[in-house]
Amino acid sequence: MTTTLISPVTGETIGEVPSASQTETDTAVERAQEAFGPWRDVAPGERARLLRRFAAVVDDHNEELAQLEVRNAGHTIGNARWEAGNVRDCLNYYSAAPERLFGRQIPVAGGVDITFHEPLGVVGIIVPWNFPMPIAGWGFAPALAAGNTVVLKPAELTPLTAIRLGELALEAGIPEGVLTVIPGKGSVVGERFVTHPLVRKIAFTGSTTVGKQIMAGCADQVKKVTLELGGKSANIVFADTDIAAAAAAAPNAAFDNSGQDCCARSRILVQRTAYDEFVGRLEEAVTAMRVADPGQESTEMGPLVSEGQRASVQAYIDGANVAFTGSAPDGPGWWLPPTVVESTSTDEKVWREEVFGPVVAVMPFDDEEEAVTLANDSEYGLSGSIFTNDLGRGMRVARGVEAGNLSVNSHASVRYWTPFGGYKQSGLGRELGPDAPHAFTEEKNVFIAH
Ligand code: NAP
Ligand code: MG
Repeated sequence: MTTTLISPVTGETIGEVPSASQTETDTAVERAQEAFGPWRDVAPGERARLLRRFAAVVDDHNEELAQLEVRNAGHTIGNARWEAGNVRDCLNYYSAAPERLFGRQIPVAGGVDITFHEPLGVVGIIVPWNFPMPIAGWGFAPALAAGNTVVLKPAELTPLTAIRLGELALEAGIPEGVLTVIPGKGSVVGERFVTHPLVRKIAFTGSTTVGKQIMAGCADQVKKVTLELGGKSANIVFADTDIAAAAAAAPNAAFDNSGQDCCARSRILVQRTAYDEFVGRLEEAVTAMRVADPGQESTEMGPLVSEGQRASVQAYIDGANVAFTGSAPDGPGWWLPPTVVESTSTDEKVWREEVFGPVVAVMPFDDEEEAVTLANDSEYGLSGSIFTNDLGRGMRVARGVEAGNLSVNSHASVRYWTPFGGYKQSGLGRELGPDAPHAFTEEKNVFIAH
């Protein structure tokens, strides 16, 4: 079985990749289990060295990996270079973990009590198509650092960079079976990770619908699971802020990666007294966006990942009150212009649902309390931004919004060294940050009598 890959830029076929069967998946999981004992026993300093070498090899191939992502996923070249660099940075950051996977010594009577963070075994990582490289790295870097072996399923649409990262791991000296990339279907490879008894944890990133199925499947074996799911994050703009600056920053927060970003600030709440000025300036910024061939250095937004994704986003646009749009190239490829919708009711689909495309909905609010209420009127809770010159208000609203990653006067919400994850139906557990390796371990307590 193979999967045909289509260029999002031209709509043409760019290649075929193998699509693993269940039997092939089982074989890979068994090899990963065989590799687990020896990998767990690699001395901490040596495991650290191997991860740093892997990071260096990824860095040496930054441009190659970035170009692959431009071709396969239609990411802008600037973003794609950052994404490959993010894998390198994650590996370097977690390469410091093996020698620092500390346990505790807890005072007890009659002896000594100590704890250990022990690896789980084989970990299954399931990756979506929107950020193929970073999301793979957020899983495998801390999992490997903690002494686990990894089987990784890239999304069917975007397997090329993951396959290459698997090869680069071997080139860096990571032993065979420690990181195995298995391209294939979610319903075959992904589901087998969930049902295979040797896979001890699933780290899943993707849609809330599939995430719920995975969680239910994991329950059968009480398998550990981390879920990073969808979002409908709010960008809350108060009238006391620099409106021109807030309007200039809003398009990238909504349209980066063509809006195919779980952290996209796809709802903009603007204080009513500044609403008209904000929307006017937003129009200037959106119409100035450079939507073009993602391989060009100056491009700010490329196409959507697939014909199906474009159709799904178009259906939201068709039902919405479009205020204005930017531009998009004509001709082949899965293009849509950046699109701004004015919402008048929180019942609108485009306001409530994750569009996962270049569509942002704007709505006015009157005061701080209403802003927080509107922001929290969502089943999601991944990210959010607050623009205000009042630091007290910024802090109050950041504490009031039910989401895992808030930024005040900024849209930055993902750093490999800070924790990342969702409230409510945006997810379960956290990735990244200093504690990520612990999510791939069991804590063992040992008491030794004097
Ligand atoms: P998806 O359909 O949920 O797929 C995600 C991954 O799961 C893919 O590798 C997919 O394989 C696999 N999969 C599908 N069905 C499966 C099953 N029954 N069992 C096991 N694995 C299965 O999501 P998507 O369409 O790729 O990505 C878009 C969604 O992901 C959006 O909702 C977005 O918000 C969310 N997302 C969230 C985050 C986050 O960090 N919170 C990050 C990125 C994306 P196939 O490729 O074969 O379908
Ligand atoms: Mg899907």
